[in-house]
Amino acid sequence: AKASLEERICYYEKGMDESARYRRQIAGELRSAIDRNEFYVLYQPQRSLKTQMLIGYEVLLRWQHPVRGLVSPAEFIPIAEETGEIFRIGEWVLREACAEAAKWDNELVIAVNISAVQLSQPNLPEILAQVLLETGLPARRLEIEITETAIIGDKARALHVLRRIKAMGIAIAIDDFGTGYSSLDTLNSFAFDKIKIDKSFLLLSHDRPQARAIIRAVLALGRSLDVPVLAEGVESNAHVDLLEAEGCEQVQGYLFGRPGAAPSLATLAIASSGG
Ligand code: C2E
Ligand code: CA
Ligand code: CA
Ligand code: CA
Repeated sequence: AKASLEERICYYEKGMDESARYRRQIAGELRSAIDRNEFYVLYQPQRSLKTQMLIGYEVLLRWQHPVRGLVSPAEFIPIAEETGEIFRIGEWVLREACAEAAKWDNELVIAVNISAVQLSQPNLPEILAQVLLETGLPARRLEIEITETAIIGDKARALHVLRRIKAMGIAIAIDDFGTGYSSLDTLNSFAFDKIKIDKSFLLLSHDRPQARAIIRAVLALGRSLDVPVLAEGVESNAHVDLLEAEGCEQVQGYLFGRPGAAPSLATLAIASSGG
């Protein structure tokens, strides 16, 4: 028999309760996660498509929870943004990544994700400056990745913060490009140093001709604006063929390297000699 409307509503409310309770629990546990050393970061290579040369690494946060196991950033970052814990977490990631990259004797760039909430922080430029000073990483080796949605809220304030960061010599990439609802306006309002095409376009490209047309258009846009374009989510040789045919410069994806432990100095020595 079908559940009555009352039963269904009750079930729905119970689901809501559980998800609210889950979020509250996660929020509480996030507060002690740094002190308990439950966070670590992984590094995923970004390469030139033509030469396969390493350009740098994107830093991806992981939370090893003592009971829940590995919790995905897609799950806990939104909660950390809601509670404001993202400020401390974001700064921790930044310090961790910059300290690691400062040990490498090369010009590789370290790309760190900065959440929309962090961008609303007027002292973000000071935090970045402080971390660079402490770790000794030159500003030119740091790149921050921000999504389009980061600029939508208080646009004037976000742009002001971005301009100050750029003036410090830190590169700014627009992440998940094409998935927000004001991509062109965002691109028009700030001189980004890199466009990262969202992986959904490549991952759908073999089923949908539209996806390939969009990739082509974004690459043309990058050329017109003189901004390098990186394609995310490169998983197969078919993806590489498509990107080569369309003239994409930079790639990142499982085919070229999964997110992993910090590269060893030996790996870096080989990579920077073109291997
Ligand atoms: P994102 O910034 O778009 O990061 C790329 C995501 O795609 C990563 O997921 C990465 O592991 C995954 N990926 C890389 N190559 C491939 C591929 O070839 N195929 C597929 N299907 N996926 C690929 P991850 O590590 O689970 O991170 C998810 C999201 O969480 C990130 O998306 C980012 O928005 C957020 N995130 C991760 N670390 C941080 C952080 O330190 N700070 C902030 N604010 N957000 C973070
Ligand atoms: Ca990213
Ligand atoms: Ca992305
Ligand atoms: Ca994303």
